[in-house]
Amino acid sequence: MTYRELGKTRLKVSRLCFGALTMGPLQANLLPERGGELIEHAFARGINFVDTAQFYQSYRHIGHGLKKAGGDMIVCSKTYAYTREQALEAVDEARRLLDRDVIEIFLLHEQESEFTFKGHMQALEALYGLKSRGVIRAVGASTHHIAAVKAATALGLDVIHPLINIKGLGIVDGTREEMEAALYSAHNAGIGIYTMKALGGGNLFSSADECFKYVLSLPFADSIAVGMQSVEEIDANVNYFENLRFDEADIARLNNKKRRILVEDWCTGCGNCRAACGQNAMRLDGGRAVCDPAACILCGYCSGHCPMWAIKII
Ligand code: SF4
Ligand code: SF4
Repeated sequence: MTYRELGKTRLKVSRLCFGALTMGPLQANLLPERGGELIEHAFARGINFVDTAQFYQSYRHIGHGLKKAGGDMIVCSKTYAYTREQALEAVDEARRLLDRDVIEIFLLHEQESEFTFKGHMQALEALYGLKSRGVIRAVGASTHHIAAVKAATALGLDVIHPLINIKGLGIVDGTREEMEAALYSAHNAGIGIYTMKALGGGNLFSSADECFKYVLSLPFADSIAVGMQSVEEIDANVNYFENLRFDEADIARLNNKKRRILVEDWCTGCGNCRAACGQNAMRLDGGRAVCDPAACILCGYCSGHCPMWAIKII
């Protein structure tokens, strides 16, 4: 495993970051103990960086793993907080459930532009206040939007967690090339960058080799978060990051792997999922939610907004 400085944060992170969305209740719904075993295995394989969020509900999984992996794991979490109080509570919750005093990185979740940053400014200032007290070590934002990368650069945040992949799948407001240009500027300004959705949320499994090659070639990508749900996935991805190739068995497994959204019969047609989807992939038809697989990046955000727990990624 290779490691890079994450911008100017002084945090040295593995190039492969463990994406913890996929193990939690929004996706695989693993038992916390099982999730902890995966974190422990990832750490043993050289991964020292975990990406999570308040919304993912995977703190308990990570907490189990950290107990065994020890204090050298770098954790990044995110919050949708608008107010100071919400931001402080979000960081407190993470510290409590992860059973650690310091959360290395905290991000504003899913920013879209300078305007959403304005709406979250109280929360952002609260995060910077915690940074000055040493409770967190870096502050940033996650985004699927080029406009938010530009706004985060103008604000001089420490870290950006942007969506980018070889097809530009999921970038809401422009092309892959435009996102690359914005990220080059952010990187040149000293901002740490770790990317998401290298495999398009699972849509690009069959071209994983090409996808990883692309994202690993981006000079601004200090680390790459990849969602993992099993020891086999961790081993395959670590091997790829170390040797730049998959073995035959991994290629066969990836080719057979296809994930999709399932909307259960008990959907009430409330429309919350449609409103939550930044990709316009959900519509209502005949009083039920229907997902457009061509637009869906399998981020799982809709499922967290469903009051009926009617959305699953299978
Ligand atoms: S439908 Fe759900 S999983 Fe698909 S892109 Fe929209 S929010 Fe994400
Ligand atoms: S949020 Fe859940 S219940 Fe509401 S429309 Fe979507 S799937 Fe159906």
